[in-house]
Amino acid sequence: MVAYAVTEPGAGSDVAGLRSTAVKKGDKYILNGSKMWITNAGVAEWFFVVAYTDKAAKYKGMTAFLVERGWDGVEVGKKEWNMGQRCSDTRGSRSRTSRCPPRT
Ligand SMILES: Cc1cc2nc3c(=O)[nH]c(=O)nc-3n(C[C@H](O)[C@H](O)[C@H](O)COP(=O)(O)OP(=O)(O)OC[C@H]3O[C@@H](n4cnc5c(N)ncnc54)[C@H](O)[C@@H]3O)c2cc1C
Repeated sequence: MVAYAVTEPGAGSDVAGLRSTAVKKGDKYILNGSKMWITNAGVAEWFFVVAYTDKAAKYKGMTAFLVERGWDGVEVGKKEWNMGQRCSDTRGSRSRTSRCPPRT
């Protein structure tokens, strides 16, 4: 299962507020950032993570990466206690990983 990880503490409807970054180093990217409200984060094996690779280009400077749960630097937070939808496994996550392959 893949969880869709776009939302951040400072970026909801307007994804231009993302603070996650991915910087190319050799043939990999170093991904750094925090996400929140990620549905199925507790069970997903992969995360579809959106981060800036070129902040100056705004929306066009965002890139999506497939991040594997078991990679070093990937942390998944506790389940949020939602007002409704309590069966929904919704969590935050943090990534600080240098294992991201080239753009997806
Ligand atoms: C149960 C749950 C599961 C979620 N699962 C995921 C997930 O799997 N992956 C993920 O990435 N995110 C997920 N989210 C996050 C969700 O996508 C965001 O909550 C959503 O994008 C809204 O962002 P926000 O909460 O920051 O609200 P804001 O963007 O701050 O919006 C607040 C209010 O302002 C209004 N508003 C915002 N912009 C405008 C505008 N331009 N004009 C008029 N009104 C506006 C909105 O309609 C809303 O009423 C989940 C959220 C919840 C609650």
